[in-house]
Amino acid sequence: MGNFSNTKPHAVMIAYPAQGHINPVFQLAKLLHLKGFYITFVNTEYNHKRLLKSRGPNALDGIPDFKFETIPDGLTPVEGDTGDVMQDVPSLSKSIRDNFLQPYCELIDRLNHSHNVPPVTCLVSDCCMSFTIQAAEKFGLPNLLLFPASACSLLNILHFRSFVEKGIIPLKDESYLSNGYLETKVEWIPGLKNFRLKDIVDFIRTTNPKDIMLEFFIEVADRLHRDSPVVLLNSFNELESDVINALSSIIPSIYPIGLLPSLLNQTPHSHHLESLGSNLWIEDTKCLEWLESKEPESVIYVNFGSITVMTPEQLLEFAWGLADSKKSFLWIIRPDLVIGGSVVLSSEFVNEISDRGLIASWCPQEKVLNHPSVGGFLTHCGWNSTTESICAGVPMLCWPFFADQPTNCRVICNEWEIGIEIDTNAKREELKKVINELMAGEKGKKMRQKVKELKKKGEENTSHGGYSHVNLDKVIKEVLLKEN
Ligand code: UDP
Repeated sequence: MGNFSNTKPHAVMIAYPAQGHINPVFQLAKLLHLKGFYITFVNTEYNHKRLLKSRGPNALDGIPDFKFETIPDGLTPVEGDTGDVMQDVPSLSKSIRDNFLQPYCELIDRLNHSHNVPPVTCLVSDCCMSFTIQAAEKFGLPNLLLFPASACSLLNILHFRSFVEKGIIPLKDESYLSNGYLETKVEWIPGLKNFRLKDIVDFIRTTNPKDIMLEFFIEVADRLHRDSPVVLLNSFNELESDVINALSSIIPSIYPIGLLPSLLNQTPHSHHLESLGSNLWIEDTKCLEWLESKEPESVIYVNFGSITVMTPEQLLEFAWGLADSKKSFLWIIRPDLVIGGSVVLSSEFVNEISDRGLIASWCPQEKVLNHPSVGGFLTHCGWNSTTESICAGVPMLCWPFFADQPTNCRVICNEWEIGIEIDTNAKREELKKVINELMAGEKGKKMRQKVKELKKKGEENTSHGGYSHVNLDKVIKEVLLKEN
């Protein structure tokens, strides 16, 4: 197969096996492919099956020199698995620490002995897959890391150990989650402005000293402190300047290349790769047609990402808050969004919304956010959703659920002032009020203006000659293509 292929540098790439990690690493894979790399993208067998189901059996074969491989995830298959459900994050994280290094090294070895692929020349990995640092050492290869969340979240994680050392975590008991303790100011981390414990990446909210997620991220942080690798950020200087400065005194080789959706869109020929998607759920594209029938910036788009769940009561309040706001809305309700089973919305609700609301189970989010009819985003504040919203210039209502979402919510609402936070148990009256504020109020107008300014600053970084472009090219030249 290809003498042509054999002359290419070959990057083996892996993301933490969850949608919010796969997407940015996949975007980076596309960028490297466009810059002349042969790509092997490694999925877990479980996610690869889901990808084949959601994209169609031939969807991953079409692009020369962009190939997929799998390794097992080490978990027992879920009984009666429909392919729609997310896996259990702590079990997956534990399995990554215990089980991934060996099959990953075996795969690299196998690729190096294959006649029809070029020899592996570098590893490009999600920061959270820190075992790849060991793999890179074993094979004597450069390993470039991408942190898939915000620079601020990375700064949080790098300081997790200090929370333990100061005796702040583990929490003494569950009451500390609700007794006001989380309001405590965090004043010892340079770069964080007015942060409280409740704004820190929430894996610190544990009473268990052996908490799997806490240990997982402390291990990631220890490796980053110790090995000081080259780390790419899906961010840009104007967005997180203080934090990026603080980070660079811990990890000197840190390069912002964000925002990735915009960097990819502005890279020539990226549309050739459009058929290659990374969504694990089947996309409902009818919502794009529906959006065509709506006025500019008149629709609120509601989506809580791939992992967030809510109680049936919370869902009902959202439903009536949306209906009572009298605004048009597109609401994505994943099959596993509601705790305890399927959703039944009353005929009263369905009659009330008529053509004003559309409900779908998964959508091509970037396309939706960039549709001119969309004027606001009710989000759980995942970092990809946040960056995609900024790239589209859409202000947000923020309902953070877990992990880095409270951290993102804090900066969205308090530093950038492009979003309004919603209480976890907000009732329909409150929801109706904030939806109207976002879509038609003075505050919404100001936020819309601010997010459009941020969008513009972001585009300056990702346009030809901008910092993000320059940083990516520099890292390719100095790290990935460096002769040993
Ligand atoms: N996404 C999508 N369609 C949906 C829901 C989500 O394409 O209906 C994509 C979204 O564009 C984003 C990713 O899935 O890239 C979700 O990542 P995020 O960091 O926002 O949240 P997470 O799912 O990790 O909580």
